[in-house]
Amino acid sequence: MKSKSITEVDLHCHTTASDGILTPRQLIILASQLGFKGIGITDHDTIQGWTEAMKAGMETGIEVIRGIELNTDMNGLEVHVLGYEMQPDSSYLRKHLGILQEARVQRMHEIISKLQDLNIKITVEDVRRFAGGESVGRPHIAQALVELGYVISTREAFDRFIGPGAPAYVPRYKLSPIQGIELIRESGGVPVLAHPGLKGLDEHIPIWVDAGLQGLEISHSDHSSEDEKRYIEIAEKYGLIMTGGSDFHGEVRKPGVQLGKWGTSFDVVTKIRELVRK
Ligand SMILES: [Zn+2]
Ligand SMILES: [Zn+2]
Repeated sequence: MKSKSITEVDLHCHTTASDGILTPRQLIILASQLGFKGIGITDHDTIQGWTEAMKAGMETGIEVIRGIELNTDMNGLEVHVLGYEMQPDSSYLRKHLGILQEARVQRMHEIISKLQDLNIKITVEDVRRFAGGESVGRPHIAQALVELGYVISTREAFDRFIGPGAPAYVPRYKLSPIQGIELIRESGGVPVLAHPGLKGLDEHIPIWVDAGLQGLEISHSDHSSEDEKRYIEIAEKYGLIMTGGSDFHGEVRKPGVQLGKWGTSFDVVTKIRELVRK
C-alpha cells in the first residue's frame, strides 16, 4: 500500500475557463510549486483551458491530465460527470461542447435555418420579439410562426414543424448522465462520477456502469470518510477506477478547499491512460 499522505495528483480543478479564480497557467504553476506529479483540469462543460494548461505543463514538467466536468440533468437533479483524457482533436467532443455552451441560442438558430430550408420566411428578430430575455425557446418560435401566418396555432407549429419528428425539429442539449457518459466515451475519454456522495444516487450507479461509466470520485472536499468507504466498496464491486480531487476553484470562491488537499496517487493517472488505450 502506498502512502496517501502526499497528494501526487489533484484530479478535480476549475480555472477561469469556467468558474475558477486562477487561469489554467496559474493553476499549473501552483500545482508545480506544491510538488505534484500531475494535475487534472476539469472545467464545467468546456475544454477551453486545455491548450494553455498543456503548455504550462510542458514548461513546468508537471503532467497535465485533460479533463472536464459535465453538468448533466436527471429529473431536475444535477449530476456531475467527470471525463478524462478525451481526444483534444475530437470533432465529436468539440461539436457537442459548443452546443452545450450556447444551447438555447444555438438551438433557436438551428431551428430557424431548418425552417428557412422549408421556404418559411422567419428570422431571429421575428422570434426575439416574443422572447423577453435570453431564455429563448421553441414556444417563441411557434408564436412567431403563428404571427407570420404559417400556422393557426402554436400547437400546429409544433406538430408540423418544430416538434419531435417534424422537419425542423432540433433536439435539446440538456444532457442526461447517460448522454454525458456516452459523450465522454465517444470522445475517447474515461467517464467518472463526480462527488457521488452529494446527491445520494447510489442506486443509479449500476445503470451508469452499464452505460459506460468507468470510475467513481472517492476523495473529494465534500465527502465524509463514510462516503469514501462506501464508494470504495461500490467501485470495487463494479471494477471501477477510484479517482480523487479537491474541486479547487480558488480559495476566494471555495474557502477551505485547497489545491491538493484531496487527491490521489499517480497510479490512477496510469490506470486512466490504460483505459484510454483499450
Ligand atoms: Zn461538481
Ligand atoms: Zn467541480
